[in-house]
Amino acid sequence: MQRPMGTDDATNRRLWRLVGPVVVGAGVAVAAALWLIKDYGSLALFLPLPTVLVTVCGYMRIQIRIRSAIHGSSPVSAVIVVAAVFLPAPFVILSVAVGKLADQLLNVAHVPVKISFNVGKEVLNGTAAALAVAALGFQPILVTADRTGPISDALAATVLASVGYFIVDELVSKGLFAMLTRTSYRQRLFADWGLLAVVQAGAFIIAVATVVVYHVNHWLVLILPLLLWCIHLASGNRVRARQGNEAWQRLAEATDEFNSVDQTAVLHAAVRKAADLFSTDEVEVQIRPQAGEARLVRSNGRDILYDGHPDDAPPAAGFVIPIGLESYRGDADLGELRLRFRAPVKLTEREGYTLHTFAAALCTAIRNASTFAETQRLADSHARAAAQDPLTHLANRRKLQQYGDEALATGIVGVLLIDLNHFKEVNDTLGHSAGDRVLITVGERLTAAVREDDLVARFGGDEFAVILANLSAPALAEMRAHTILDALAPPIQLDDMRISVEASCGVTTASGGTVGELLRRADVALYQAKQDGQRVVVYAHARDTADIGTLTLGGDLARAVAEGQFVVNFQPIVDLATGQVIAAEALTRWHHPDRGDLAPDRFLPAIERSGQLSAFADAVLDQALIAVSQWADAGHDIPVAVNVSPRSLLDPSFPDAVARRLAARGVPSSSLVIELTESITLSKLEVVDDVLAALRDQGIRLALDDFGTGFSSLATLARVAVDELKIDRSFVAAMNTSAPGAVVRSTVDLGRSLGLVVVAEGIEREDQRQQLWELGCPAGQGHLFARAMPADRLLAALRRGHDGQPGCLAPPLHDTDTVIRLPRNRRSRRAGAAEPGQEWVP
Ligand code: C2E
Ligand code: CA
Ligand code: CA
Repeated sequence: MQRPMGTDDATNRRLWRLVGPVVVGAGVAVAAALWLIKDYGSLALFLPLPTVLVTVCGYMRIQIRIRSAIHGSSPVSAVIVVAAVFLPAPFVILSVAVGKLADQLLNVAHVPVKISFNVGKEVLNGTAAALAVAALGFQPILVTADRTGPISDALAATVLASVGYFIVDELVSKGLFAMLTRTSYRQRLFADWGLLAVVQAGAFIIAVATVVVYHVNHWLVLILPLLLWCIHLASGNRVRARQGNEAWQRLAEATDEFNSVDQTAVLHAAVRKAADLFSTDEVEVQIRPQAGEARLVRSNGRDILYDGHPDDAPPAAGFVIPIGLESYRGDADLGELRLRFRAPVKLTEREGYTLHTFAAALCTAIRNASTFAETQRLADSHARAAAQDPLTHLANRRKLQQYGDEALATGIVGVLLIDLNHFKEVNDTLGHSAGDRVLITVGERLTAAVREDDLVARFGGDEFAVILANLSAPALAEMRAHTILDALAPPIQLDDMRISVEASCGVTTASGGTVGELLRRADVALYQAKQDGQRVVVYAHARDTADIGTLTLGGDLARAVAEGQFVVNFQPIVDLATGQVIAAEALTRWHHPDRGDLAPDRFLPAIERSGQLSAFADAVLDQALIAVSQWADAGHDIPVAVNVSPRSLLDPSFPDAVARRLAARGVPSSSLVIELTESITLSKLEVVDDVLAALRDQGIRLALDDFGTGFSSLATLARVAVDELKIDRSFVAAMNTSAPGAVVRSTVDLGRSLGLVVVAEGIEREDQRQQLWELGCPAGQGHLFARAMPADRLLAALRRGHDGQPGCLAPPLHDTDTVIRLPRNRRSRRAGAAEPGQEWVP
């Protein structure tokens, strides 16, 4: 798992240059001590005790890894301070030198430069402690006449020794450390300050306790090593427990930052957080092409050093700990996370575990981000495909309708419906490929002949349509139609043949209404043109027999709303796994006195134009809320979903109207879901934002209807905060073919990563239900479960239930082993967050 880097001599030489002065200083101290020790011959007996204690302290070491350097801390300072208070300097120096050397050889890796530094440093510390005592004229306790001396002197000596020790220790060890890690000395001085201060304070307290105990009874001192050991055990456990908690806390915070669907944000957060979490010199993530594009991101914890293709990355040296980016279940391998250190490092068991968890979370985040990107790509290409005629790349009927509706909102619009004469013969005699080339050429010529604001579409076969937007007068349309048809006149060259194309055209204009209606009228005109053998015919109302019905339909609306001819039926939405009804969608019908039941698409456009919209919406909402409270009274507490026209969202008083209705019927806002269809309106206007925000503020949930069919599904999603996505039934119906299947799959994934409920529409067969559920879609509606029905019939169905299960409409799915993982909404606990410096204890 670990790849050692080549130990380079340059680094070693640099190290020796830093360590050299320390070793030389210590050597001088030891030589002086050896020279002076003969003056205290009677005390030689006391030499082994501090020596052994210094060695034993090595076993009580608490280690901290900062990047690749191990920072150890042990109660040795307490022993040295005590030694300095009790014994003359030469004893202190020699016992430290011998004891520390033994400790190093027994406990620490045998790297000469490290051993030399550690022993040298400790000798200098000891020398400082002893000299601080001597310099101010205090006598070491064992040198005093009664081998006790006044306690005040002893305590003063303890303070002096501690200060001497502390100062030299800080200067030598931190100074070197700063140079090794290339951080500033000041920075080092304050890093890890908390933990080290505790250790120093502990050492001081132990030293004071020793002096006091000694004064009470000389022999009592002997139990102190035991006490020391106990304190060490207890504090070691505490430090470990604290760091364990901090580790999880920081891991949770780090992975929380993965909560983004943008790959760059995820990767940058990952390398920064990993550098911090594992105290590395560098971190890099490399992802394989399967997860999008091959990419490598490298950071030193502060800056992003590289982000680009792995092949172009500058080489990096060092000791590397790599880990594969695999999911929890080990079923995806997206790339690799690498921790890089300047020198070899061994992670502790917990760090290893943390690393695995971190990598798995990162893997999920990368997957979510690439799924999101894929969804975006699919939705775009789907939108393009949905808007385009594949042969000529002109707009299709759908796109034309949308474009026309927009144009109608702003001015006079002309619609030309163009049909090629005798095209069938071209196709039959010259073959389909010749026919296709004719159609393509016609498309090109039409496009060249229209103005910038206009739109050319092909409806299939040899039928084309043109929207003339922003006409300054209706009369212009006919003239423009002639010009456009003129463009088709030149013969078309097909290999060695020239054929001429003639066309007929129906024209109509309007400054309101729907494109659907305009197209119908243009069609009437086109039919007349063909019949009369004319090139261009303008629609005339008098010759239109079908129009009369439509007109009366418009006139009926006010009465229909007033007389309550609109009835609301409810289609249950069920939990796919259990068959339990979890909501119902309100779908409106018009019980027309003469025409019978009319579906919404027959009357909604008229209502939206008629000025009756708010009365209509209010009536629908009211019926829906009556139904909800009726169900709730019967013990079925399910929310109702109500469809809202985009135009209602332009009405600033809409939220208040809803609130009043909720209050009047005593229904909590949580029992209402409002379904929005994506539309131009939804994605553009500020007033819509305000209306939606006001609805949400009331606690009403929002669902994005027909998801995937819109021209900017994801743009809408980014703009409007919704709680629910409804997969359009066209995708469910075609789920087994590749593109719609992928849309379903990625919508489910997207919903999951954004924490949204996903509902599939139009489920008609059991296999669709099963498949959707396996994809992770939790809920759905469709004829498989029930059609829309009156509120009381739905209530009866809920009461009856399925198979003795009230509230159910279908049997549970058989495969109950699979678990759907819904997003866990993890919140990190902020309190007690770790300071930026790393403290890891094995
Ligand atoms: P929608 O919101 O997508 O509603 C679902 C439509 O799919 C309904 O058509 C429903 O009857 C139909 N449906 C449900 N399950 C199945 C199935 O398994 N197979 C098939 N083939 N169809 C299924 P409906 O009732 O004709 O409504 C059409 C659209 O009219 C609705 O589409 C909605 O956008 C709109 N609408 C309905 N009621 C209202 C209303 O009160 N106000 C507004 N503004 N729009 C409404
Ligand atoms: Ca709906
Ligand atoms: Ca829908």
